Amino acid sequence: MKNLIFVLSAPSGTGKTTILKILKDELKDVDIVVTYTTRKPRPGEKDGIDYNFIEIDEFKKKIEKGELIEWSIVYGNYYGIPKDKIEENLKKEKKTLLIIDTQGGLKIKKIYPNAFLIGILPPSLKEQERRLRERKDMPEEEIKKRLSFSKQERDVIRKHYDIKLINRDLRKTIEKIKKIILS
Ligand code: ADP
Repeated sequence: MKNLIFVLSAPSGTGKTTILKILKDELKDVDIVVTYTTRKPRPGEKDGIDYNFIEIDEFKKKIEKGELIEWSIVYGNYYGIPKDKIEENLKKEKKTLLIIDTQGGLKIKKIYPNAFLIGILPPSLKEQERRLRERKDMPEEEIKKRLSFSKQERDVIRKHYDIKLINRDLRKTIEKIKKIILS
């Protein structure tokens, strides 16, 4: 059976936001499913594009109604994937790309064993830290928290993901992702 569900996970500072923005333009036939979150948008983030930003009450209603295929708490905020979209795409044999964290990725793999997990890794820890700082949109404490959490994420990617891509050259990384999804 062919792969219809693709998961893309990238620890903070590896280039997830940058990669997603380009893929949205270049993968028109693939449905990129955006996560619901209760966290507040960062500067430059757009509702419905980067995430669906919702209030905690609304999120809890979605959990109760069973509208989310999976949800997790990361850095104290809720994140969840809408169920209807994935099921609808599977019926139509349309490809879905989920941009989610590694906890979410493992859950998706359990529910859909045919899902293909793509993990993005930084060229080095030093470079990951540099990229996080370059964004200039996070207090020092948040940067430290993300760097320590991303160790776990890198470990999950190394152990459980179907393919690991090191985001050294952005254009090459994009081409590799496109090849995997479109082949
Ligand atoms: P994330 O969403 O994973 O935290 P971003 O996409 O915001 O990461 O990227 C963090 C910073 O790293 C941004 O300033 C971005 O321009 C830069 N960046 C992303 N990919 C690369 C790359 N391959 N080489 C150099 N810099 C990159």
